[in-house]
Amino acid sequence: MPPTTTGSPESGTDERPQPVPAGRLLVVEDEEKVALALRQGLEGEGYDVVVETTGEGAFFRLARDRFEVVLLDLMLPGRDGLEILSALRKQGLDTPVVVLTARDTLDDRVVGLDAGADDYLVKPFAFAELLARLRAVARRGRVSEADRLAVDTLEIDRATRRVTRDGQAIELTAKEFDLLHYLTRNARQVVSRDTLAREVWRETARSTTLDNVIDVHISRLRRKIDLDHPVRLIHTVRGVGFMLRAGEP
Ligand code: CA
Repeated sequence: MPPTTTGSPESGTDERPQPVPAGRLLVVEDEEKVALALRQGLEGEGYDVVVETTGEGAFFRLARDRFEVVLLDLMLPGRDGLEILSALRKQGLDTPVVVLTARDTLDDRVVGLDAGADDYLVKPFAFAELLARLRAVARRGRVSEADRLAVDTLEIDRATRRVTRDGQAIELTAKEFDLLHYLTRNARQVVSRDTLAREVWRETARSTTLDNVIDVHISRLRRKIDLDHPVRLIHTVRGVGFMLRAGEP
């Protein structure tokens, strides 16, 4: 078992941002032959490939593992590809997704990409075309991940330092912005006070004073982001730190 950083309370004391592994792909495909062909072809191109054969499997894999791009078949047993995709996007997953689909199951939501897909390919497709799309979305994905983040209805644009919730602009101080950006970039992971001291306040050591400053900033963010909102984003993980995610921690 490779070590994974899941943001569990045990691992939360020294949580570092998990980089997106370049060239690591998740292929979600239930047809064995197709999955095998994709794996062999992509590994031949130097990609590191993980295959999941069910939507459920993909969902749980993506909750704990990061990938540069996801290749998602739409017709899956159990929960289908679109259902999985929209659930993951609601949870703030920003990994680029390329949908693979047969023409007769091509959904309008995919064509319009409003299901949260970044691109789609109709089966059968040329392998060279798949490689070209992968490179394109990986490039775009990295840019958008760095510059624009979204969890639930919270949107953050790093370039313009603009923050909105439900489309309404939220005014933040520079430090509040840095803190929120850090938490959002590491959404669904426990972020410890140590990490915040180091990464946001640029302090090498924690102190009681700094802990108080962090707590004050967290409660101001809560007032601005979460107050009266049905979906709370900023959660306290008792004894460890904080976690930004939609819903219960
Ligand atoms: Ca299928």
